[in-house]
Amino acid sequence: MQLQALLYSQGFGTRRVCAGLVEQGHVTLAGQPCTDPFTDVNPEGLAFTVQGTPWVYHAKAYLMLHKPAGTECSQKPSAWPSIYTLLPAPLRQRPNKGGVDGVQAIGRLDQDTTGLLLLSDDGQFIHRMASPKRHVPKVYEVGTRHPVDARQLERLLAGVQLEDDPRPVRAAACEATGERALRLTLTEGKYHQVKRMVAAVGNRVETLHRSRIGALDLPADLAPGQWRWMAQDEVTRAS
Ligand code: URA
Repeated sequence: MQLQALLYSQGFGTRRVCAGLVEQGHVTLAGQPCTDPFTDVNPEGLAFTVQGTPWVYHAKAYLMLHKPAGTECSQKPSAWPSIYTLLPAPLRQRPNKGGVDGVQAIGRLDQDTTGLLLLSDDGQFIHRMASPKRHVPKVYEVGTRHPVDARQLERLLAGVQLEDDPRPVRAAACEATGERALRLTLTEGKYHQVKRMVAAVGNRVETLHRSRIGALDLPADLAPGQWRWMAQDEVTRAS
């Protein structure tokens, strides 16, 4: 692959911009500036820098983000900063033939919810993870206003009715983790589902944090606002 095409595929701008970056000596390979945009490179795992920032080639992007509170999972947020502003520009610009450019969040968390969010530009992966038919379990750590009691847990497991849906929705698993805390596993993703389920059993969500999606835990070393590439085995395990 030509260096200029590789940079383009990774989201560093139009082909012309990428050629300019190379010609102006802003791109290094193995520590040395490479000024020929047509240099043939093997992209697999290629490490390079652009304007001093290290980068590694990824044919497709699979990311984990620790969503902080006070951010919206939308490209066009209404009141709070978008989670996409937490990502470097190339990840937001990666060209996607026939699709929206850049990585997309897989599902959404509310503005005040924290925790694990996956993003990708692989349409098939996004579909596999988000498809309601696959019932990918998601684990939420919930802080409640009132003490959690056995009756509330029973009702969450048995199923509660939400106002816009005649079918009861139930937690796949549910346990108290403190006097005012519970861990809830859901296999669906309805609008405000945790908040509405907890309200339906007479309590109220004060804090909400997603700790797990499918087989993937939020890494303990990923601080709020930080993201990282997923390892290949995480991509495989996730889907
Ligand atoms: N359920 C909610 O109510 N909010 C979220 O952000 C996620 C699940």
